Amino acid sequence: MSENFVIRIVNPQGEDVDWTVQNFDLSFQNVLEVMSQVFPDATITAFDYEDEDGDFITVRSDEEMGTMFSHYFDLIAEYGNSGMAIQPLCVYPKVPKPAGKRNIHGLTVKTKASSAPAPQPMQAQAVNRQETDIKDILGSGQISPSDIQYLEVLGNGHSGTVYKTLHSPTNKIMAVKVIPLDITPEIQKRILSELQILYKCNFPVIIGFFGAFFAENKISICTEYMDGGSLELYGCIPEQVLGRIAVSIVKGLNYLWSLKIMHRDVKPSNILVSTKGEVKLCDFGVSAQLINSITQTYVGTNAYMAPERVLGDQYGVPSDVWSLGVSLLEIAQGRFPYPTTPREQELSAIDLLQCIVHENPPRLPRSHFSEQFADFVEHCMQKTPNNRPKPQMLMEHSFIRMYDDGNQQIIAQWVCGKLHEIQQRKLIEQQQMT
Ligand code: ADP
Repeated sequence: MSENFVIRIVNPQGEDVDWTVQNFDLSFQNVLEVMSQVFPDATITAFDYEDEDGDFITVRSDEEMGTMFSHYFDLIAEYGNSGMAIQPLCVYPKVPKPAGKRNIHGLTVKTKASSAPAPQPMQAQAVNRQETDIKDILGSGQISPSDIQYLEVLGNGHSGTVYKTLHSPTNKIMAVKVIPLDITPEIQKRILSELQILYKCNFPVIIGFFGAFFAENKISICTEYMDGGSLELYGCIPEQVLGRIAVSIVKGLNYLWSLKIMHRDVKPSNILVSTKGEVKLCDFGVSAQLINSITQTYVGTNAYMAPERVLGDQYGVPSDVWSLGVSLLEIAQGRFPYPTTPREQELSAIDLLQCIVHENPPRLPRSHFSEQFADFVEHCMQKTPNNRPKPQMLMEHSFIRMYDDGNQQIIAQWVCGKLHEIQQRKLIEQQQMT
């Protein structure tokens, strides 16, 4: 391993610190010394890292640290091969008491001489944390059901109902998805533990997670509220707006994939927008147990599923890429691209699945859309999973590059305009009824 790599020292009380390690020959003691600079008020004798299964493994010696590095470098090799962005190695110091507030910018490491060469100066960098709201809420402790005031229903999905709510202690508006689940306390515990990873999903294009709890056989999942709702509301979206939305979706998916999270349910109703022009992905499959429990009670069709999923074959990231293609086709044309719609009866669901597996995938008419857009969708909707673009290729596609100009304003204007139109229409309908 000759290249630099980054160790991210996770600080739950403040800002994480990124340490660019230039010398691979680190000792366990070296790492503890660096951590003691990040947490000057604490005595740190061990730290954790997360393995592939999401279990936290404690490191207390050079040997255990060697295992952590080989695990991480295996992952890097895997990511490199799949073209995914390489993530820092996150370590979680075991801090016995909260660290005091200090300025960590420009931190340098002063390691004592040791038999191993000392680590190079650390390029500390405060990780830019958005979602201060989340921290506000979490700072007040676990979300308690009695702190939530239900204001209105935002939508009914296949698994549950989403409410706009007020979290009284912090006076913050949240979205709460309530899903009825008849499961044992052990399974409930497992789901809550699997959802913990959401606290770490900290990216502008991923919906902020505030917490989850079970009450009366229902799970409530509390997330950031998006005042524009989902793309499902908006029908046909013009390409110059849709292109910028697509850039955000691709960035969000890349982020999730880099954390080894497959979305599993990419569709317009899981892509949220705001009047500020933000685009965020929600409802991704972080908890296998939750997906399992929902699937056991859900009867219906996921019309955005890739052919390999319909067939019950093994599937992975490429199946998210397929669903991305179907979703873009839908919002470009303002209708579900297959002849049947996902909202139709059970009977036609079988026809739809047959269609996905046996027919040629639908395409965008090049007469109405740019060549780049049509090509992008065509590549995403290749029936053979291996022929679909890899994550990095998606980012580099000319369609994404063409619209990756950070123009959030164009989305904001369009969302505001559409919401106004919808409101006007509702008013007229109400007037006609009275
Ligand atoms: P589905 O099961 O079809 O994925 P959901 O149950 O997740 O749908 O959501 C139903 C609807 O609730 C969405 O289409 C959207 O309009 C609304 N919604 C969901 N989450 C939020 C949120 N965080 N902010 C605002 N609206 C939301």
